[in-house]
Amino acid sequence: METMTSATSQISNKELIEKQRKYIHSGGLRSIEERKRVLQTLRDAIKSYEEAIIEAVAKDMGRPSLEAYASEILYMYNEIDHAIRNISKWAKKKRVSLPWLLIPGRAHLIPQPYGSVLVISPWNYPVQLSLSPIVGAIAAGNAVILKPSEIGGYAEAVLREMINKTFPPELFHVITGDKDVTMNLIHSAPDYICFTGSPAVGKIIMQEAAKNLIPVTLELGGKSPCIVHDDVNMDAIMNRILWGKCFNAGQTCIGIDYVLVQKKVKDAFVSKFIEFKNKAYGEDTIQSPDFGRIINEKNFDRIAGMISGNILSGGKTDRSQKFIDITLIDADENHPAMQEEIFGPLMPILTYDIIEEAINFILKREKPLALYLYSNDKAVQEKVEESTYSGSLAINNTLLQVATTTLPFGGVGNSGMGSYHGKFGFETFSHMKPVLNKSLKLDSDLLYAPYKNTMRKLEKWALWLSR
Ligand code: NAD
Repeated sequence: METMTSATSQISNKELIEKQRKYIHSGGLRSIEERKRVLQTLRDAIKSYEEAIIEAVAKDMGRPSLEAYASEILYMYNEIDHAIRNISKWAKKKRVSLPWLLIPGRAHLIPQPYGSVLVISPWNYPVQLSLSPIVGAIAAGNAVILKPSEIGGYAEAVLREMINKTFPPELFHVITGDKDVTMNLIHSAPDYICFTGSPAVGKIIMQEAAKNLIPVTLELGGKSPCIVHDDVNMDAIMNRILWGKCFNAGQTCIGIDYVLVQKKVKDAFVSKFIEFKNKAYGEDTIQSPDFGRIINEKNFDRIAGMISGNILSGGKTDRSQKFIDITLIDADENHPAMQEEIFGPLMPILTYDIIEEAINFILKREKPLALYLYSNDKAVQEKVEESTYSGSLAINNTLLQVATTTLPFGGVGNSGMGSYHGKFGFETFSHMKPVLNKSLKLDSDLLYAPYKNTMRKLEKWALWLSR
């Protein structure tokens, strides 16, 4: 399949990967200063495409400019600046101690790039989720091929133009297309794959990568719950909860999928939710300039089809505008909105009596990408932290764990494997190669044949060591 085009040549994905591998193996990004320069060039490219990026995500999914600027642009500046400041420290060889048997000698770990890294990204935060893993990959000294999502084609086109005009293909190149293009790229055997998307496609990617034993990082999704305990002040928490549901019209992998509210505060929660929703987006949400749209008709139909039963607030839809209202649904575990990840602005509300009930509800399901807890009770905080399993846990906050360069971002179980952001991205895209450097000055004949008498000597040493 001929996919990479330039002014003068057309080469296959396999040839492109080989070219990238050669570039890295010949020391293309061995210098830390060169990696910093490449990251700065990426930052400058984003800067000159700011308007185009904001316009593209507005066209793709009606994203308000402020949301676009914060999540696609500022976010990337923060990630890049943090990497530039810290690569020298991350890339240092790490000395390790040696057992007495190997003395005199020295040992260390040297972080080395894999070679050509393939990044496959989704449509919902097209710039952030494409470029943020790439910052880690480049910081670690890899070349990169990006395959952005073909859904919401405006952002895809901006990414292709921005990157392919800025970087030579042996360093960083964007290839666009559908799933056949993705498959061809995987079968062309890159050295590492980082996939962000749904668990269903994640399984396909891993299966195909396994054919060439390509290591993978999988950043997946699922239903992220939010527990609201009775001790919290509803006025203090509601903006955070509403924002965690409505940012990007609910199309956020770590957005709140459903709430588990303690029964005695359910009515207070519902009335505050409606009050705050009206304050933020008005009584007729479709008129609000601050609320986005669903990416396409397919997802609109899927999400709209979940609206049923006892609707506590919202419920309006408009297919011509791909608009779905912020909709609070009185639900139980059998409700249609509780059967799969919603990825839209519906909020099923379920109740519990004691915290153990909420914990067991979560434990019975797939491990979520994020878990949110609203409570000031230290005992409840500790119980939830220790007895639940999720990619991340945020207490009295929503979404912001992802914007913290000092915390790893990733899932566990069905929500993914591996992580990135800051130094965790550097480590993900590095092979920590152990190096043993043994002095020739002393040697022990214990190791070498003939083995006559060696066993007794070794047993004696083992006995002495175990004292
Ligand atoms: P998706 O899995 O449908 O697509 C992701 C990527 O895979 C795209 O580039 C697409 O072109 C490619 N793809 C799709 N089907 C394929 C196939 N059969 N074979 C090979 N490649 C294929 O996901 P999406 O709809 O773009 O995004 C929504 C999902 O992603 C949600 O589940 C969400 O939770 C998850 N997500 C996770 C994160 C995270 O950081 N963990 C971030 C955003 C989205």
